[in-house]
Amino acid sequence: MRTQATVVIIGAGVMGASVACHLAMRGCTDVVIIEQFETEIQGSTARSAAGVRHQFSHEINVRMSQYGIERFTHFRDEIGGESGLHQVGYLFLINDQENWQGYCEATAMQNRLGVRTKLLKPADVHAIVPDVRIDDLIGATFGPDDGYCDPHGVALGYLTRARSLGVELLRATPATGIEVQGGRVVAVQTPHGRIACETVINCAGSWAGQAAALAGLNVPIKPFRRNVYVTQPTAIIPHQMPLTVDVTSGFWMRKEQENLIFGLSKADEPAGYNTNVDWDWLDTVLDAGFDRFPRLGEVQLADKQCWAGAYEITPDHMPILGRHPDLPSFINAAGFSGHGIMHSPATGVIIAEEVLDGRAHTFDIDPLRIERYATGSVFERNII
Ligand SMILES: Cc1cc2nc3c(=O)[nH]c(=O)nc-3n(C[C@H](O)[C@H](O)[C@H](O)COP(=O)(O)OP(=O)(O)OC[C@H]3O[C@@H](n4cnc5c(N)ncnc54)[C@H](O)[C@@H]3O)c2cc1C
Repeated sequence: MRTQATVVIIGAGVMGASVACHLAMRGCTDVVIIEQFETEIQGSTARSAAGVRHQFSHEINVRMSQYGIERFTHFRDEIGGESGLHQVGYLFLINDQENWQGYCEATAMQNRLGVRTKLLKPADVHAIVPDVRIDDLIGATFGPDDGYCDPHGVALGYLTRARSLGVELLRATPATGIEVQGGRVVAVQTPHGRIACETVINCAGSWAGQAAALAGLNVPIKPFRRNVYVTQPTAIIPHQMPLTVDVTSGFWMRKEQENLIFGLSKADEPAGYNTNVDWDWLDTVLDAGFDRFPRLGEVQLADKQCWAGAYEITPDHMPILGRHPDLPSFINAAGFSGHGIMHSPATGVIIAEEVLDGRAHTFDIDPLRIERYATGSVFERNII
């Protein structure tokens, strides 16, 4: 059992892997990742819907997506492994004036940043997705460079590269305590012994609130279940269907090989770690789905392929990144509220800078630092 490291990373999901990889690529290899489960990449990363999109309402999220999608394009050359990027697009269907106004403003902001999102008239939608109901739409937004990736491939690529550079992964090693002396982290406790360290990075995903509490910190991240339902193979929707979102209901659907996958967040479900599929919720999801895609009724569900996982949600649906002001050697990289896969490349860069340069500089992450909760934060509106 390792007893010392410069940096201990809690969590071997996509975020822990990316942070470790970016530290190691900058020469910081005295790094240990500790993972509570028997194997790596078993948390939310393994249960994601894998979407990547530029279409956010907040500029920092757009910038992080631009960076991430660009990196996924070159993932094999830059990191090794496969990102599995498929740029089939994201299509948001909007039928109420308030949302339309917000999406028009967000599209203008995205265009200003160089993103190719387009505003569509309802009549243009069928050229992209046939058989979707458009009679009540005001308009739609289409991002041709959005799509989906392979979260396991991304996490494994980062982890493999990090380990090849000297980072150590300790499986079945939960952080059970964090020792603090004189305002600094001095060690992480595990059931196998303590690891003395200078810096701890909280990449514990939906458990990040608990991990922070080990150091006596209050980091507002809670787990909320999200379900992904899967159909039998079907040809009712063409292969290149973009991930399509009915903004008012929140129903989303995309193609996954020959199958369709779809979901709808249950807004009033309390926080918790239940990741069993919610079958009671399915009827509500299907009602919303049939309303927008009447032909969905022709398709059978593949019960055994459906899954659920936890979103790691913050009060404003924005991640919490950077040094904690009350304990600067404790760094948060968590709370992605459903966007962690696409934002993992940018987060790796940001957190490596926070460790090695004292402060992130490639991105201005002030809107994402935990201090924002004392001064008033900005919500991300385009949440699925
Ligand atoms: C259904 C669903 C759909 C999603 N869809 C998308 C999407 O379309 N696009 C997108 O970008 N994102 C999506 N997400 C979100 C994305 O999956 C997460 O943001 C991302 O995986 C977070 O990665 P992570 O490494 O922080 O967390 P995780 O993958 O959960 O990894 C955290 C790790 O920390 C470990 N850990 C926790 N506590 C401890 C401890 N005390 N000691 C040691 N180890 C510990 C856990 O075991 C886990 O392995 C989705 C999530 C879900 C559930």
